Amino acid sequence: MLSNNYQVILAAHSWFSRNFLPRVAAVLNVSLITDVLKIESNNVYTRAIYAGNVHAKIQSKDPIQLLTIHTSLFEACSRDGGDAEIITKDTPPAMNLTSWKSEKINKSDRPALIDAKIVISGGRSLGSEENFDKVLSPLVDEVGAALGATRAAVDAGYAPNEIQVGQTGVVVAPELYMAVGVSGANQHIYGMKDSRVVVAINNDPDATIFQFADYGLVADLFDAIPEINKLIKE
Ligand SMILES: Cc1cc2nc3c(=O)[nH]c(=O)nc-3n(C[C@H](O)[C@H](O)[C@H](O)COP(=O)(O)OP(=O)(O)OC[C@H]3O[C@@H](n4cnc5c(N)ncnc54)[C@H](O)[C@@H]3O)c2cc1C
Repeated sequence: MLSNNYQVILAAHSWFSRNFLPRVAAVLNVSLITDVLKIESNNVYTRAIYAGNVHAKIQSKDPIQLLTIHTSLFEACSRDGGDAEIITKDTPPAMNLTSWKSEKINKSDRPALIDAKIVISGGRSLGSEENFDKVLSPLVDEVGAALGATRAAVDAGYAPNEIQVGQTGVVVAPELYMAVGVSGANQHIYGMKDSRVVVAINNDPDATIFQFADYGLVADLFDAIPEINKLIKE
């Protein structure tokens, strides 16, 4: 239980917080308010529902407000300066209900998806894990981008889970987002719609992704991506 009189506990809306904050909410017997887009006042929040298609303004009457926030809509605060007192707490002993066996971390020299300036995401249209690497990696590495994927590509085993962009993946807001063979489903758009410039490459001129793109190229990605990479190199 909390020893202090906290009023608000908040964390970035990430895989990590989505794992432990529901349990904190259960222990405290309060609601968890996820993916807050705007803090309206000290207990009124705007949050996204239906994959971001509806914004709901809600008021919490819980004594402790437990929130996860949509990071791309909030400025990161500096670690230095500021008036807030930083208190170091001792970690209570673990309950030993679970034990740590091992971890497998995918190490990469590429920038982290969450704060990369350029993100290039591939869709199911890549067709295989090999194509994901063979077609997208040269361009990704040439421009120093992070690699992203749609859920369909992840579910098909073409890309690892941690690079999924979208409602049930990572939310990104880079300077440049390139959607390669991505249809533009609501759940994917939710994870990249705050990107500054969006480029879409799709062989279907009616693909939904073009509605969200600043620049669109109707082309076969297997021709377009190597060609773009060649031009950038030149
Ligand atoms: C509860 C829920 C949560 C979800 N969460 C997410 C999420 O977090 N992220 C996410 O991405 N999705 C999510 N989805 C899935 C989402 O609804 C879509 O199914 C998914 O985004 C589609 O992925 P895709 O665009 O790769 O595949 P597809 O829909 O198969 O689209 C492939 C696109 O590639 C184009 N294409 C095909 N061949 C080529 C080619 N050779 N060159 C160029 N273009 C080509 C096609 O025209 C098409 O537009 C979620 C779904 C649900 C129900």
